Amino acid sequence: MGKADLHIHTTASDGACSPMEILELAKKNHLDTISLTDHDTIDGYLEAVHHADDYSIRLIPGVEITVTFAGREIHLLAYDFDPADEGLVRFLKQQRKARVSRMEQMLSLLRRDGFDLTMDEVRAESRGSNPGRPHLARIMVRKKMVASVSEAFMRYLGSSLIRKIDSMYGDLDEAVKVVRTAGGVTALAHPGPLYTTEEIESMLEAGIDGLECIHPSHNFEQQRKLSRLAESRHLLVTGGSDFHGTGKAYDPWFGIVTLGSRHVGSLERIARNRKRMNKNTGS
Ligand code: AMP
Ligand code: FE
Ligand code: FE
Ligand code: ZN
Repeated sequence: MGKADLHIHTTASDGACSPMEILELAKKNHLDTISLTDHDTIDGYLEAVHHADDYSIRLIPGVEITVTFAGREIHLLAYDFDPADEGLVRFLKQQRKARVSRMEQMLSLLRRDGFDLTMDEVRAESRGSNPGRPHLARIMVRKKMVASVSEAFMRYLGSSLIRKIDSMYGDLDEAVKVVRTAGGVTALAHPGPLYTTEEIESMLEAGIDGLECIHPSHNFEQQRKLSRLAESRHLLVTGGSDFHGTGKAYDPWFGIVTLGSRHVGSLERIARNRKRMNKNTGS
């Protein structure tokens, strides 16, 4: 049976490996299907798509979208959409602007607390990719403001900082609609340790298609609970390693935390039907 990993980051966002390096690693780890789910960008997919065949790897379009829901940021995975869909491309452009604005706000809050950190430094660290807190954390380590990336998150870049930011990210309903119109499916990312069942149920009302049941942050109990919820609601089951290639906590799970091909088949079937329906209704 084939192995899939539907949650991988590249240098297009906060990952350390280029899209090509991921294809190579995937081959080495005997994965036959992968999705590059960078934060709010499909640039990594657009680069890898020309080479996936050379590695005999099935590459499913993917992205991990940050959305706002009930005053907090949540991660929504999207798969198998038309990557050229105008609405989706426009939405991701806006999401990038939201990331830059969020970063500028974070920097000014941190400067107010006495940290000498600039947007130029973030631009140099993220090299044109979508900027995120890991880039900022790496700069803070280099400038000896903290001893490690996890210390940066724990002390300065956690949810209390995010709560002070005036977010420009799209909301959950909008993101789900954009992905559906682009013929794709959505799944709630790594819900295990983050949300209660009640919270998950209220998020699902937006029309999310699936749950990321398989993720390195989930313990056995969480995985079982999520799989049961997915089954009872007829939701898709997705999963992957959330590999960032940066030596962070989840990275040892690449090639190990994987999704069975049966679930990939269901995902592709739903996306195919959605594209057909969209065509018929002219949207
Ligand atoms: P952002 O996109 O700015 O919200 O940053 C979120 C990303 O930061 C996640 O996708 C992880 O890659 C990384 N991250 C989140 N929490 C931590 C942590 N405690 N330690 C290291 N990296 C983290
Ligand atoms: Fe990340
Ligand atoms: Fe995430
Ligand atoms: Zn991720």
